[in-house]
Amino acid sequence: MTMPAAPRETLAKQLALVIDLNVCVGCHACVTSCKEWNTSGAAGPLTDMNAYDAQPTGTFFNRVQTYEAGSFPETQTIHFPKSCLHCEEPPCVPVCPTGASYKRKEDGIVLVDYDKCIGCKYCSWACPYGAREFDEGRNVMTKCTLCVDRVYDEHLAPEDRKPACVKACPTGARLFGDVKDPQSEVSKAIRERGGYSLMPEWETKPANQYLPRKITRAS
Ligand code: SF4
Ligand code: SF4
Repeated sequence: MTMPAAPRETLAKQLALVIDLNVCVGCHACVTSCKEWNTSGAAGPLTDMNAYDAQPTGTFFNRVQTYEAGSFPETQTIHFPKSCLHCEEPPCVPVCPTGASYKRKEDGIVLVDYDKCIGCKYCSWACPYGAREFDEGRNVMTKCTLCVDRVYDEHLAPEDRKPACVKACPTGARLFGDVKDPQSEVSKAIRERGGYSLMPEWETKPANQYLPRKITRAS
């Protein structure tokens, strides 16, 4: 049985993504694979609004935002994948009036219980990263689940028990594992390659981390 963790409780295990900004090419394979997996799952389709209009919108657990940084001719194009960061101190949890929004004790994944959610959107106002996605079709709040329905599915081959986005990324920009295990691939990447949290000043302690870009120049 899944038990919600009280805020500020230190968990022994924390599953998370580590995203390498040095090799993300902005192809959106993670976005489309996420959409496909979560639309075809038990929770039902993720809504699309105006899918064929000039300004389509809808529910996406994972988005890639692309920015130009610097001044010409020293500009860079930065592709920045963003989804729920599964914060260790998630402000989206205590604001929920029904207990629908919770953080699991066993692995730190932050989830929404759709049966309890009343669609009040308090959690999306509390999340400083804009990671919550309101499903207008079902009138419930949704978000990245870290593919909890894949990682523990013993009917899947062991190599498939990871988030769909991690499986789909053609450049290997997305690592997945337990950031509390110092021997895990993600912990080593954070330690050895300068992994950092997104906007730590908000004290949400995001579990997901990013590996910084290294500038390379053609000679
Ligand atoms: Fe909650 Fe936002 Fe943190 Fe995800 S990124 S755990 S939705 S505060
Ligand atoms: Fe809780 Fe749902 Fe309201 Fe979010 S929208 S605070 S999950 S009841």
